[in-house]
Amino acid sequence: MKNAIITGGTSGIGLGIARLFAAQGYNLLLNGLEKYGQQIADELAQEHDVKVMFSSANMQYSDQIREMVQQAEQEFGQIDVLINNAGIQYVAPVDEFPEDRWDAIIAINMSATFHASKAVWPGMKARGFGRIINIASAHALRASEFKVAYVAAKHGVAGITKVLALEGAPYGITCNAICPGYVRTPLVEAQIADQARAHQMSETEVIEKVMLKKQPIKQFVEVEALGNLALYLASDAASQLTGAMLPVDGGWSAQ
Ligand code: NAD
Repeated sequence: MKNAIITGGTSGIGLGIARLFAAQGYNLLLNGLEKYGQQIADELAQEHDVKVMFSSANMQYSDQIREMVQQAEQEFGQIDVLINNAGIQYVAPVDEFPEDRWDAIIAINMSATFHASKAVWPGMKARGFGRIINIASAHALRASEFKVAYVAAKHGVAGITKVLALEGAPYGITCNAICPGYVRTPLVEAQIADQARAHQMSETEVIEKVMLKKQPIKQFVEVEALGNLALYLASDAASQLTGAMLPVDGGWSAQ
């Protein structure tokens, strides 16, 4: 039985990934700020007969990240898979972009990936097996206006992914990033309203003209597609796939 940590695992993409991992028999630590996080963990555990812990550690703070990893290692003995998924968004023109949103996005979307990876690293290295999967974004590969902090953070995740792949190679640790296009999660629902304000458009226009404009396949990406890719990356079959930025973006980054 393998054990995985999924940050931001109690909502949206993280929760979708958690469901597939639990169904495959993984024990999980799910982290997130959702008030109902413990309930989600209990339901998943019962449904799939696996252990599921919940941690409300705030990914903005390195000490809380380290404690979360320690908790999971104590409970499960070892961590085989780390999925760095927690993230937030803020949309505003650069001259109006609040400094505290810049700091929070860089901390949660980028620095937490480093801190959590550093914390699981010694155990993975000692056992000669590890899978680090970063949920980056099409915005790790491409830019959009009004998202300066998010695009910077996700490009930073691309850098972390490549360095960890190089350093992990001698120890059986792989590190890859999944780069989704738009997925209709709570994060995107909130953004539709913000984008409408920033672009001075209606919400329907934002979906058609801003979000899906860049995706040749005119559909939101399905969470299950991301979960199945994560499962593959975590498997033994993917032992030689490392340092890759893998787009699941309906063709966005082909342009
Ligand atoms: P979501 O809002 O549904 O989920 C985000 C999760 O992160 C939640 O569980 C939330 O509690 C957690 N989180 C936020 N701040 C946190 C903090 N300080 N500490 C701990 N947990 C925190 O969003 P989502 O769309 O599922 O996003 C998940 C990841 O996927 C993010 O990194 C996001 O950038 C990325 N992504 C999303 C899309 C999309 O279209 N939805 C596209 C590309 C990439």
